[in-house]
Amino acid sequence: LADYPHLASGKVRDLYAVDDETLLLVASDRISAFDHVLDTPIPDKGRVLTALSVFWFGLLGGPDAATPPVAHHLVAARDERIPEEVRGRALLVRRLEMVPVECVARGYLAGSGTVDYRATGAVCGVELPDGLTEASMLPRPIFTPATKAAVGEHDENVSFEFVAEQVGRELAGALRDATLAVYARGSAYAASRGIILADTKLEFGRDGSGALVLGDEVLTPDSSRFWPADSYAPGHPQPSFDKQYVRDWLTSAESGWDRHSGEAPPP
Ligand code: C5P
Repeated sequence: LADYPHLASGKVRDLYAVDDETLLLVASDRISAFDHVLDTPIPDKGRVLTALSVFWFGLLGGPDAATPPVAHHLVAARDERIPEEVRGRALLVRRLEMVPVECVARGYLAGSGTVDYRATGAVCGVELPDGLTEASMLPRPIFTPATKAAVGEHDENVSFEFVAEQVGRELAGALRDATLAVYARGSAYAASRGIILADTKLEFGRDGSGALVLGDEVLTPDSSRFWPADSYAPGHPQPSFDKQYVRDWLTSAESGWDRHSGEAPPP
């Protein structure tokens, strides 16, 4: 983008500086799973994810810290400062000091939650009852943070205590409360439309005054698992309206992808 200095690129999104307080967050059509960016982009994926984030930001609160359940970073999705070439896939957002924690809320057992539960009876140190199975509803939604790894490294599930040691107990508690509040609001809305929000990952930052602000994308199919409620039956993986199918394909023998080396699958 000629207009603004490029600040950083993640696996899917690119970040540019607009001014001292404002950034431009551009969602590409790239798709990643297990820290691996696939060779084939999905046309207009960035537009769809951007529109979904805008919808959820509107439902979840406002840029004002007083807006429940949480303040968020969205300034504008339509604005003349957004260059024509990325309109529809870019957001003007507040510049934040990001907290390096992947804030995951889970209401159901899936993915690394199932793996951890089977190995230890707990997820991120949160003890769960015996007898749960793949896709079980949990007794209550839980906060299961993960470390935020650099590109090429793997995120790791960690305990609340680990996060408290990293960022301080007060901030860790605020992250947990905000994450569970967003999950509660999002899952209630999804349920009203016949969809189970099984889990989701959020990222937070702090603004100049130190207030906690929801950043990144929110409740998109890249960051969440959405299951149809009418066919829900625990005991096996659920059909998932999100990128679970990409993870399933990558980890299948057919893909030829080696999760440990991260080597790209053959074309
Ligand atoms: O794979 P796992 O069970 O740990 O994922 C939990 C939730 O967090 C899922 O909704 C997944 O989409 C999301 N997630 C994410 N980015 C990651 C890891 C997980 O958005 N790096």
